[in-house]
Amino acid sequence: MECDDSTVKILDNDGVGNHTGGRVNSILLKKIQSLPLDNIVTDTRRFTNPTDKYAYVNEVSERIAVRCWMNASLQLLLCGLDHKGDSGWQCLESKWGLILSQYRRPIEYNTTHLAIRGMPERYNLGDPQRVFDNIESTDYNIGDVKGIFSHKVSITTTMTSCSHIPKSPKIKTRVSTLLSLPPDHSDMNIYMEQPFVVKPKNYTCEECSKNGITSIGAQQHTKWLDHSQDFILLSFNVPEDMKSNIGTHRDVNHQRNVNLRDSTGQVAEYQVISIILFVNQNHYVTHIRRPSGHWMGCDDTNVTLLDNAEVGNHLNGHVHSILLKQVRPIY
Ligand SMILES: [Zn+2]
Repeated sequence: MECDDSTVKILDNDGVGNHTGGRVNSILLKKIQSLPLDNIVTDTRRFTNPTDKYAYVNEVSERIAVRCWMNASLQLLLCGLDHKGDSGWQCLESKWGLILSQYRRPIEYNTTHLAIRGMPERYNLGDPQRVFDNIESTDYNIGDVKGIFSHKVSITTTMTSCSHIPKSPKIKTRVSTLLSLPPDHSDMNIYMEQPFVVKPKNYTCEECSKNGITSIGAQQHTKWLDHSQDFILLSFNVPEDMKSNIGTHRDVNHQRNVNLRDSTGQVAEYQVISIILFVNQNHYVTHIRRPSGHWMGCDDTNVTLLDNAEVGNHLNGHVHSILLKQVRPIY
């Protein structure tokens, strides 16, 4: 904010510390991290490399490998909980929520397999999306986790050949919204800010039919419903025609916040706080923004401090998911 006696206004990034015809007089600094940088690394959650670990599924003797995708998904979810703070951790009370809360301390854990123990097996295999599918599931009591991470979208259908509006908007609650991975060299921040692709739909207008007219064809518009949620999780699936040559140069600018527009046209600001990368065709790693602002690369047991250029990048990987945290409500 810029405070000029009785006049107070919101500043954008360029405005902070600048004034036409002015100069810096004083700067107040706040300590955000009391540990030396080396300690930040040891003070970050890490998970045992899962390749040699097995878990029991549904308390029976089937054994499945505990995979890096679970570690990567957990790092993303726990990063969200760290940012949510006490109010998030303390509302965890479901079976899975309580398991998540056991990972609160930033230490090394050898018990990742407990996070999937007892879950129906169909949620255990595959990629991180399955973890989020599981959160959405109604037959597994994890409304507490879902309550923290879910967002709502509004889906409106409009006829393409007449002006009737077929139905009132459909509201859907989602834990993650799936988008197509954009082409290599795309700016992911700009991509996330764009309206969703409008889907054509086969639909016959009932109003027109009543009058004996045939009006066929509609479009579905999906929009963020509103800005009432703390987080938005986006996952990116690889389109068929991109599978052979995905590329590794998409830019996730963690220093620029993402401005999302909701179904009423209002804009709120979101910060990138976690990125899952799919690397070397067979492995998942997560980049997380600690609440202190430091970015860490989490690769199973290996945790490293990332510099700005490294965040969201990997020599042989591409963006799989991005977790956004709301930092500025409607403006
Ligand atoms: Zn019509």
